[in-house]
Amino acid sequence: SAYTPSPTRYDAMTYNRCGSSGLKLPAISLGCWHNFGDHTPFETMRQLTRTAFDHGITHFDLANNYGPEPGSAERNVGQLLRTDFAAHRDELIISTKAGYEMWPGPYGDLGSRKYLIASLDQSLKRLGLDYVDIFYHHRMDPETPLEETMGALAQIVASGKALYVGLSNYDGPTLEKAAAILNEMHVPFIINQNRYNIFDRTVERNGLKETSQRLGLGLITFSPLDQGLLTDRYLDGVIPTDSRIATDGRFLHAGALTEDKLKQIHDLNNIAAMRGQTLAEMALAWLLHDDAVTSVLVGASKPEQLLANLKALENTEFTDRELSVIKFISLA
Ligand code: NDP
Repeated sequence: SAYTPSPTRYDAMTYNRCGSSGLKLPAISLGCWHNFGDHTPFETMRQLTRTAFDHGITHFDLANNYGPEPGSAERNVGQLLRTDFAAHRDELIISTKAGYEMWPGPYGDLGSRKYLIASLDQSLKRLGLDYVDIFYHHRMDPETPLEETMGALAQIVASGKALYVGLSNYDGPTLEKAAAILNEMHVPFIINQNRYNIFDRTVERNGLKETSQRLGLGLITFSPLDQGLLTDRYLDGVIPTDSRIATDGRFLHAGALTEDKLKQIHDLNNIAAMRGQTLAEMALAWLLHDDAVTSVLVGASKPEQLLANLKALENTEFTDRELSVIKFISLA
């Protein structure tokens, strides 16, 4: 069926400037790590991307290895870009990454120039694009000189295959070194992508958040709902048959639902209720409240989840008391 995007798609979304760059990102972006592999019905992916775009979610995030099978998420989104979104390429920010294992042998992993350049060429073929908007190095590689990895990012931009570059899963000190190298080469490095949610505050401890903000860089936070734990999904301690724990099990296991964790989820849900929000809304709002955060990168298995998550934008204010209670519960 032909797709005509909603004419009101830009009316309600907030667009935040990505650090001090010229690029603005939607406050909520759509991640394709789960639910875009070959096990998911194509119609579901179609409804997810259409629902997102209809509500101003202009940014779809990918990586070379998203699937399963690795590569299939890029292929599936590529199919949708060729059909549904063919007339809207210039309204979309498409990102991809390389850094985790993608193909066998020494050239399909980590941070060599050889890997990054070959991987992006493969990604562009799967996506059916001439360029991506943002290309990320997906994780730190302690064995490859930073100059080599950053040099590959510089070449990628110079060759026109990416407009901007980003770093993912870096820490503060390594980010600072990388940024100095990229600045010297005048590379449009504008964004960090890191895991950050009420339960996981690593970026507050490893310097990433502070350094990112100080250097005028954007921060897009992944797994903002802690893969579904910070929602009503598992609130009553039961694992729904259509949930990530039941259907996937690669990265989120039933073992995550300890008694302590369920108590934290309950207590946080009570705070959310007092704010007039769902737990998912509060978890997203908690990130959007933070000046260092440009966009929250959500996943969704159903279009209704995206619609529910958009409600987070209606209240991103927190009192100091709320923030400290949330912190107290999450560190308990
Ligand atoms: P989330 O923490 O947003 O978890 C998404 C999952 O939570 C959904 O698939 C769904 O699970 C559940 N959910 C979402 N909304 C609701 C709702 N309103 N009510 C109830 N349940 C809900 O993010 P992800 O872990 O999926 O990560 C998001 C994106 O971040 C990825 O797609 C990827 O783009 C990026 N990422 C990047 C990484 C990196 O190394 N750079 C690593 C990991 C992710 P269910 O299946 O149970 O319905």
